[in-house]
Amino acid sequence: GPSSTGRELEQAIAQLFAAEDDVLRQTTERARERGIPSIQVSPLQGKLLQVLAKACQARKILEIGALAGYSGIWLARSLPADGRLITLEIDEMHASVVRESFRLAQVYDRAEVRVGPALETLPGLEAEAPFDLIFIDADKEPYPQYLAWAIRLARPGSIIVADNCVLGGDGLGSVQESPSQFLTGARSYNQRASSDPALCSIALPISSGMTVSVVMDRTQES
Ligand code: SAM
Repeated sequence: GPSSTGRELEQAIAQLFAAEDDVLRQTTERARERGIPSIQVSPLQGKLLQVLAKACQARKILEIGALAGYSGIWLARSLPADGRLITLEIDEMHASVVRESFRLAQVYDRAEVRVGPALETLPGLEAEAPFDLIFIDADKEPYPQYLAWAIRLARPGSIIVADNCVLGGDGLGSVQESPSQFLTGARSYNQRASSDPALCSIALPISSGMTVSVVMDRTQES
């Protein structure tokens, strides 16, 4: 009812719109067994990523930060049969679990993980650009650099999503008065996303907050 807490409401919405199947449930279960922290997106966020991928008719998706492949499965499932997901992951152990997840989810034909620090892998992706959707969900300090790369690897109409950007409001404060490097990443990200005329953006209070941007066609401006 109207008195539902945010958490109950999120669960009720997820139950109706974003139910996990066995493959998704087993992905988080296997990750837990291997000692990987449960810091994947929520089902609601996974479904939001799918809706956004469909909205921009994504054929090529880039993810920064794969973990165990949970969000990667949501993303890969939004692709057409000839679509492609490239996900970047620094940790070789995580990457091997991601490969297993993609195999079990039967998206291995369209989804691949590339291992290394994202800032070293990203320049090599220019030949494979443009990406229609870019999902940023890795270490927080370089978020502004990841955004710059995302814009560079996008086309007009591409959608860029970054997770952990609102942080109960802490991610929205002043960059100059930021108390930590972690928050500086989110704050600078939101600063640019909210003010760069090359982007049309909104931050959503979903889990710890996702900032969603559409890349503008600068030649169409009046
Ligand atoms: N997107 C995943 C999901 O929802 O299922 C969750 C990603 S988790 C929050 C962040 C991941 O980014 C971790 O697996 C971590 O190892 C990886 N990571 C951290 N720093 C990185 C870097 N510099 N380059 C690439 N991946 C990095």
